[in-house]
Amino acid sequence: MVFNMANSLQKPIQYLKGVGPRRAQCFRKLGIETVWDLLNHFPREHQDRTKQVPIVRACSGSVQSLTGVVHDFDVVPVGRNLSMGRALLGDPTGSIWAVWFRHSSARYDPFTGLRRQLVKGASILVHGRVERNYRQLQIRVDEYEVLKPGDRSVKHIGRIVPVYDLTEGIDARWLRELIWDVLEKNHGGVYESLPEFFIRENNLASLSWAIRHIHYPASWKDVQKAHERLSFEEFFFLELALAHVRQGRLSGPPAVPCSLTRCLLTPFRQALGFDFTTAQKRVINEIFSDMAKNKPMNRLLQGDVGSGKTVVALAAMLLAVENGQQAALMAPTEILAGQHFLTLEKMLKGLSVRMSLLTSDVSKKNKFKKIEDLKTGKVQIAIGTHALIQENVFFQNLGLVVVDEQHRFGVRQRALFQRKAQAPHVLIMTATPIPRTLSLTLYGDLDVSVIRQLPPGRPGIVTHWTSEKEALVSVHQAVNTGKQAYIVFPLVDESDKLNLRAAVKEWERLKTSVFPGLSVGLLHGRLKSAEKEKTMAGFASGEIKILAATPVIEVGIDVPNACVMVIMNADRFGLAQLHQLRGRVGRGKHLSECFLVSHSKSPDPVRRLNLMCETSDGFQLAEEDLKMRGPGEFLGEAQHGTPLLKAGDLVKDVAIIEKAREKAFLVMREDPCFGNPKNHIFRDTLRSRFANRLFFGQVA
Ligand code: ADP
Ligand code: MG
Repeated sequence: MVFNMANSLQKPIQYLKGVGPRRAQCFRKLGIETVWDLLNHFPREHQDRTKQVPIVRACSGSVQSLTGVVHDFDVVPVGRNLSMGRALLGDPTGSIWAVWFRHSSARYDPFTGLRRQLVKGASILVHGRVERNYRQLQIRVDEYEVLKPGDRSVKHIGRIVPVYDLTEGIDARWLRELIWDVLEKNHGGVYESLPEFFIRENNLASLSWAIRHIHYPASWKDVQKAHERLSFEEFFFLELALAHVRQGRLSGPPAVPCSLTRCLLTPFRQALGFDFTTAQKRVINEIFSDMAKNKPMNRLLQGDVGSGKTVVALAAMLLAVENGQQAALMAPTEILAGQHFLTLEKMLKGLSVRMSLLTSDVSKKNKFKKIEDLKTGKVQIAIGTHALIQENVFFQNLGLVVVDEQHRFGVRQRALFQRKAQAPHVLIMTATPIPRTLSLTLYGDLDVSVIRQLPPGRPGIVTHWTSEKEALVSVHQAVNTGKQAYIVFPLVDESDKLNLRAAVKEWERLKTSVFPGLSVGLLHGRLKSAEKEKTMAGFASGEIKILAATPVIEVGIDVPNACVMVIMNADRFGLAQLHQLRGRVGRGKHLSECFLVSHSKSPDPVRRLNLMCETSDGFQLAEEDLKMRGPGEFLGEAQHGTPLLKAGDLVKDVAIIEKAREKAFLVMREDPCFGNPKNHIFRDTLRSRFANRLFFGQVA
């Protein structure tokens, strides 16, 4: 139920004059069901059609608006199927032909409307491109508006005009008229969603003013002021919801505090064979001090590929185990889970930590036993895939859950994992850096740790955009000097058999004709687990020199001796995925190279590939990705259903977001239960906006 509007705004759109059931169906495609939704269908952009020129100044080649009196209107055929309607317009400075082109039809006259409106003596405003036709100037009309004497309410020209997202059955001109009418009739019908004092304090426009002026601004300043209010309010309530969820977590069941005993951590550090980087130390401190509290930790660890997040997670898991708790780590692929398991096993050799690897692939009997061991607490550290969040998996005393490569999991899966204990500490890791605006909003109830430093002694990765031939020559050279290489084939959907067959064929070709005598391995998602493991082990040990793979290797694989990466048809991948793939190299002492093979000339891929060659900074790439593609990619599951943001812009509104967040957290700090009557309106709006959204947990 939505409370903050007059009844007339809750009306289904169908009952508006001129809409009806058929158009209501079209509106549904735009997510518009009610009149209120219609008012919240904000313009995608605005066009400046304020400037009018006298006819004598009409200038061929430019898009202009002008006003004139109709002297004459007629229709002439200009082709087999095309007719032109033309009106001779005049003003005190001169005259010009205004022209409309329409497909001819035997069944009806496409010019009926124009004939009716463009009577001699009518005053009209036209907007369009001025061109020269033989020796006469004409304006090819995009939009026109008949001026009624005394009526100054122009909607289509002579002002800043709203441009809307449309759909079949809803045309621009008609939609503008409709929204105009609704605004006229509902003047004052929009109730305020923020308290008076708050609006004043933050120097905002009223909601009703903002809605009116976002559609029909009188100036560019109006556009800005209206956007500011609408965007602020959107982010404010989003942040308030986040602050509320956070509040709920902190006042919910307590977590088990963990203190350092070092009985495991010290041997672990000794077995590492390297020192933690400063950034890793800082993050470990942040995590440990979270876990020392009886409030559940909820932390996001962002670190570029290769920055060494795994050891940080392992340290956190050992802290839990030192404190008699169980810890579990979930990774998106079997390969990666297996790799984490091996790493940990190696490092904890000789210590009595009981570990278990749980993937969907273990045999039934074996699985039963493993699940039993989790339940009885026999296993202290569980590493696994989605298998960990199955219904039949229980833990005895799970103190910490770690999600590796969170971008591969949905919000729901994360929540399921978290629910395996009453109030576990949660650590979420991602190598897809999240642009700042997103970490303030979508991930806004998490505390964030960042590693922006690679371990020492990494000479880096040089990226080239080359031909296949050049790339393969480099693979040869690398292998000749004892190094290893990856060759990745684009297979966006691992279950796509046809493409898989093509990839396998490519692999055979490489093996027999390009690299005869070298050991080339093949890895893809549909291989049996045992085969995958065997291939990965062979590559890790150096026995396999070249690994041809589908993007299954995208996440987490860590083989330091591999320092050449070839990505075939690189244009098929997004920026984030390219960066992830490239992150498989550059993990050892040698300078690594990445070859992007692509013949694409389309602007978007070209921009992506060039960016890849220019920078290896994942944070910079993530910002660019957000600019190029919008936030969809980052939203994952949250993006289903109605879009989260209508007015707010995650790319441009950084300042507004920051302010909204600050204010929301302040409100929550001062009055966490909205007990003060002056804050009731916050609570009510929050409820009405975020009811039924799993994403935000329960709100009030
Ligand atoms: P990611 O952050 O991408 O998950 P990993 O945790 O896989 O990165 O680490 C990449 C590699 O760097 C691993 O081989 C790991 O052992 C190594 N590594 C991690 N921390 C350090 C360090 N402080 N010094 C040297 N090597 C490190
Ligand atoms: Mg990793």
